[in-house]
Amino acid sequence: SRPVVAIVGRPNVGKSTLFNTLAGDRISIVQDTPGVTRDRIYADVTWLNYNFTIVDTGGIEPESNDIILKSMREQAEIAIETADVILFVTDVRQGLVDADGKVADMLRRSKKPIVLVVNKVDSFEKFMPDVYEFYNLGLGDPQPISAASQLGLGDMLDEVVKHF
Ligand code: GDP
Ligand code: MG
Repeated sequence: SRPVVAIVGRPNVGKSTLFNTLAGDRISIVQDTPGVTRDRIYADVTWLNYNFTIVDTGGIEPESNDIILKSMREQAEIAIETADVILFVTDVRQGLVDADGKVADMLRRSKKPIVLVVNKVDSFEKFMPDVYEFYNLGLGDPQPISAASQLGLGDMLDEVVKHF
């Protein structure tokens, strides 16, 4: 059956923008799942010869006890458990924050392959120097993308499909 790629990371890093960009370009089905938070949605994507399903999640705020943020984290954990590959999204504009490290630790415990994405790199020339600090997460090469401007997505997807 088709591999599942979960899009995870803190709120506001651009997960849903990435989801919509990937789904909008090459979509066959987008489906809200009734009874599940509307933040967890699925789309079928084709890249080269690969067919897979992407899952958007509401986001992970590791230390929060807020009931909504806890429920978003639980939804993300379910998505992680069912995923074959995790697309871990971070935000170059905010830079590397403590919570990213905590999310990274959580993802490592899942033992799933992780592709580290640094989003909002709307200009490679301007923002690439800020991408390098994400190596500190210890998750390999950060993939710079702009979900909004559709930059870097091909190279990012090449990294994802290597794990299928
Ligand atoms: P999510 O909470 O991780 O799903 O993040 P969203 O997709 O809702 O995006 C949060 C904010 O970041 C929105 O204002 C988006 O327009 C913005 N955003 C998302 N992707 C990019 C990007 O590639 N570049 C810039 N500059 N902004 C982005
Ligand atoms: Mg979202």
